[in-house]
Amino acid sequence: MVLQVPSQTGQTVRLVAPLSGFLLPIEQVPDPVFAQKMVGDGISIDPTSNLLVAPCDGEVVQIHPANHAVTVKTPEGVEILMHIGLDTVELRGEGFTPKVNLGDRVTTGTPLIEFDLDYVALHAKSLLTQVVVTNTERVAEFVYPSGLVQSAQDIFLELVLAAVSADTAATDGEMATSEPIVIANPTGLHARPAAVLVNLAKKYQSQIALHRGSDCANAKSVVALMNLQVGNGETVTLEAQGPDARQAITDLTAAVRSGLGEAGTAPASAPASIAQSALKAPPPQPKSDDPNILLGVAASSGLAVGNTYRVREQKLDVPELGGTPTQESRQLEKAIAKAALEVESIRAKVHGQGDPGKAAIFAAHQEILDDPELLDIATSAINKGKSAAFAWQQTYQEQADQLAQLDNELLAQRANDVRDVGMRVLRILTGVEATEIKYPRDTVLVAEDLTPSDMANLDRNRVVGFCTLAGGATSHVAILARSMGIPAIAGIEPRIMDLADGTPVILDGTKGKLRLNAPVQEIERTKARIERQQAKRAEDLKHAFEPAITQDGHPVEVVANIGSIKDAEEAASLGAEGVGLLRTEFVFMERPQAPTEDEQTGIYRGIAEAMGPDKPIIIRTLDVGGDKPLPYLPMAHEENPFLGERGIRFGFDQPELQRTQLRAILRAASAGQLRVMFPMIGRIEELRMAKAMLEEERQQLDLPPVEVGIMIEVPSAAIMAETLAKEVDFFSVGTNDLTQYTLAVDRGHPKLAPFVDGVHPAVLRLIDQAVQGAGRYGKWVGVCGGIGSDPQAIPILIGLGVRELSASVTMIPSIKAQVRSLDLDHCQKLAAQALGLETAAEVRDLVPLEED
Ligand code: PEP
Ligand code: MG
Repeated sequence: MVLQVPSQTGQTVRLVAPLSGFLLPIEQVPDPVFAQKMVGDGISIDPTSNLLVAPCDGEVVQIHPANHAVTVKTPEGVEILMHIGLDTVELRGEGFTPKVNLGDRVTTGTPLIEFDLDYVALHAKSLLTQVVVTNTERVAEFVYPSGLVQSAQDIFLELVLAAVSADTAATDGEMATSEPIVIANPTGLHARPAAVLVNLAKKYQSQIALHRGSDCANAKSVVALMNLQVGNGETVTLEAQGPDARQAITDLTAAVRSGLGEAGTAPASAPASIAQSALKAPPPQPKSDDPNILLGVAASSGLAVGNTYRVREQKLDVPELGGTPTQESRQLEKAIAKAALEVESIRAKVHGQGDPGKAAIFAAHQEILDDPELLDIATSAINKGKSAAFAWQQTYQEQADQLAQLDNELLAQRANDVRDVGMRVLRILTGVEATEIKYPRDTVLVAEDLTPSDMANLDRNRVVGFCTLAGGATSHVAILARSMGIPAIAGIEPRIMDLADGTPVILDGTKGKLRLNAPVQEIERTKARIERQQAKRAEDLKHAFEPAITQDGHPVEVVANIGSIKDAEEAASLGAEGVGLLRTEFVFMERPQAPTEDEQTGIYRGIAEAMGPDKPIIIRTLDVGGDKPLPYLPMAHEENPFLGERGIRFGFDQPELQRTQLRAILRAASAGQLRVMFPMIGRIEELRMAKAMLEEERQQLDLPPVEVGIMIEVPSAAIMAETLAKEVDFFSVGTNDLTQYTLAVDRGHPKLAPFVDGVHPAVLRLIDQAVQGAGRYGKWVGVCGGIGSDPQAIPILIGLGVRELSASVTMIPSIKAQVRSLDLDHCQKLAAQALGLETAAEVRDLVPLEED
């Protein structure tokens, strides 16, 4: 070990190594925030020991809730932050055991944090441990050694102290406060974003503080900020006083909102794939030049003819002041509990009405009601004398406004859910019943926004469609409208609000177009068209139980994509010939913890029984990760979650979860024709590993084997289909993922959505390869992704040799009818032509949609 000689004398603090290992200059740490000394100056250790000890005598002044970082303050006032590993905050405490508490006095060598070297090495970006002085103004010179150090023995850093100077921050001058800011960083203001904020704050002369409720920290101190433990989704404000206060607040607010340089900054419930930054830009608003046409976003397809009726928001009388804090808090808690019961009953009511996502919307409402942050903020207002209703109203409205400002369509639209839930609690608190309006027949509702609760209570016999100013195709209201089969337009031009109630309109939910002042003939034509569509639906339904055989005698199996027993019952009632995809993630999602083996066995059995013993049921093993989080299983933040631990990879990471599910499927298999399908298989090793797990469980249970298939949704699987086909019984093409991975477009990306088209020739060629590969070993191929229900894609898929179409439940009768109208020979010609085309649009032109 080589020690450099300090060039200046002064009081020196000698730190002993807190870990054994190799020293590395901080500049070489592969993390710009540490390397650029934003957190502070110091050194990094590549550890060979697993017990972090105190490098000096002092006091523990900070310990992160994830237990990966701790700060010890020396008697001279130097703050020494020790940060084990890189990005270890994302491990959320897993692998770390703290040995001290905040405020403990320690002496050199006192154990601080024990950590599992293997676990951290496997799960974090790096084990490199940074030891840095965060208040570098206290140090005149750092003396860095190099080489190998022994924990608690070798001196590994010498600090020559600077003369103590008074706090130089200016306090004279203006005072400025920011708007409330929602922290979007996935793991809150941990060391890295805190350091970036401190570095930015230090550029201003003013004193700057960050407030969260009644807590406050100096924004120029990393330790103070970390101690505040600001989590993801929490609301903070910045306050500055001094000559440049206003500028500081403007700049720092923007920086905090944009995530302080951290990638993937999206609040807790957001799909991690959608990055968000800064403030919401005004959404591009469709605008028509024709005064008789109003444009918006196509939220739910279909045509409707009716008369407008504007929904006006119910105003509630909310007194500002209340009784004692204890009384008001109790009232609020009771109201939240009552609201939870109401939401639960709506959830039960809408459950299984077609789309399994629907019940999940109300499950999300339950989560909002359970959010401790909302309760905390409201309680602190109550403690200041406000009434429960006033405190609650302020809290949820503020949270909703914050969400609405986020530059992330999905999250911004969740603001509506917060308002919906908030209003429900407020009504209970003020004792006002929701006004139930008896809409006239053929009503097209017009509203600034509707809530999922409004939707659940809609009288479908009277309301034929709706338009909202707010929202988009991904809003929960749009999802509900689609599953209820109500045509809808979201984000419509604001001039709709000028229409008098009762204005006749034609609503085209497929094109996102509202027609005013239509001539009588056009109205009549549209009505006739709607009648034809309804008649066709009724006719298709009559034949729903007949097989789907092409004109020239080629049978195609038409099966259902489902997520629950209720879906299975509906699928069976609509003529589904089996289940082509049971998305078991829905079985796992709508509950506070993973279902047990017995619970799963019951559900899989229930599905087999609902479908009937002769119907094949393909059960896909848990496919979470990417855009599908599991609320009770925290997943480490990933830079590219769609390329990360998704699908089967997650199953290998959580083998007990996977094995429990496999056992449940095997145990339920006797109830019908159950098959197992593994998601996201990209390599044959993965298939072999998954099959080995299944076989081990089968042998232990001593049960008969089940058929095994894989999703073809990773391009490598399609390309290697011939190899994979040898070891499976069938393939099912997941075109949603196959398209996103082939075209490199995120399937959930709001702007790129139009490019995620599964009929792109590149995707069709991969499907062709999969069918050819399977055919060499006599295996069959189905399609369970979105284009399996797409009338323009169906002839091509059949022509390519796809034998089974697994579709949305409600589409089954019409798909069967379409198959019966086709001719295999013609489909094969279309498929051959499609493979030679250049664009998805050309493929769609090849198979024009029939006008009804
Ligand atoms: C697919 O990727 O096409 C598919 C059916 O799976 P999921 O949509 O559930 O990812
Ligand atoms: Mg998929």
